[in-house]
Amino acid sequence: MTLLILGGTGEARDLAKELVAGGEHVVSSLAGRVARPKLPDGEVRVGGFGGPEGLARWLTENDVEAVIDATHPFAEQIGANAATAARETNTPLLRLARPGWTEQPGDDWQWADDLGHAARLLPGLGDRVFLTSGRQGLAAFAGLDLWFLIRCVDPPEAPLPRRHEVLLDRGPYEPAKERALMEQHRVQVLVTKDSGGGMTAAKLTAARELDLPVVVVRRPLRPETASVTTVQDALTWLSVTTKGSPA
Ligand code: NAP
Repeated sequence: MTLLILGGTGEARDLAKELVAGGEHVVSSLAGRVARPKLPDGEVRVGGFGGPEGLARWLTENDVEAVIDATHPFAEQIGANAATAARETNTPLLRLARPGWTEQPGDDWQWADDLGHAARLLPGLGDRVFLTSGRQGLAAFAGLDLWFLIRCVDPPEAPLPRRHEVLLDRGPYEPAKERALMEQHRVQVLVTKDSGGGMTAAKLTAARELDLPVVVVRRPLRPETASVTTVQDALTWLSVTTKGSPA
């Protein structure tokens, strides 16, 4: 029997590591968007399944006992596909997602419903923007006559704002270096998705220290399903679901 982890996140890699160490047969699935992804322990497959039908077929053909959707909080489509495929094949499905970030004293956050909303908020907040929302969907900012420092893991998709600089980098980041980067580029406002987790939270600390406003894009809604926020709770759920008792 196989456990399928829909991955692309640190939690997915941590879960794969624990399960492989415990002798389980695990396949981690990656979308294939990142040129040199950090690979999880155990078996890995790369690329789309071909919609919910393709995923359902894959679950049946590979004798999958349970699916853990540990994809990024903003990966909406694969979450919906997983819910449909799991329902159609009667495969237990668990959502594993780290909690979102919470505003702290000294923060000046504005919540946006999506990237388009974030773009509409920017002109009132500053002329020099640190844009850290990832490489996709930046067309939302393309019409703005502001300067952008765009940071992402792989080159961003066009169209991009006319005045910009691209910085290719990957976390984890440290507050002191984030602060130095923002000072060096005279950043006036930060844009981020509410990705949560410690790997990329340093920019929020730096913005707080520098008294900069932050536009935080809200997480999209995911399908209702069993869900946990830690790898440990995912392991317990798997044990109860597949073996009938906690590990
Ligand atoms: P998405 O919009 O939810 O998915 C688009 C399509 O990509 C899906 O329909 C599926 O294709 C394929 N796909 C996505 N994740 C997959 C996976 N783990 N394994 C196999 N196929 C997958 O996804 P996205 O927002 O482009 O994100 C792609 C991947 O990058 C995710 O796995 C996610 O964990 C990771 N990631 C995303 C973000 C973000 O901000 N969106 C940030 C960091 C990491 P088919 O329909 O053909 O199966």
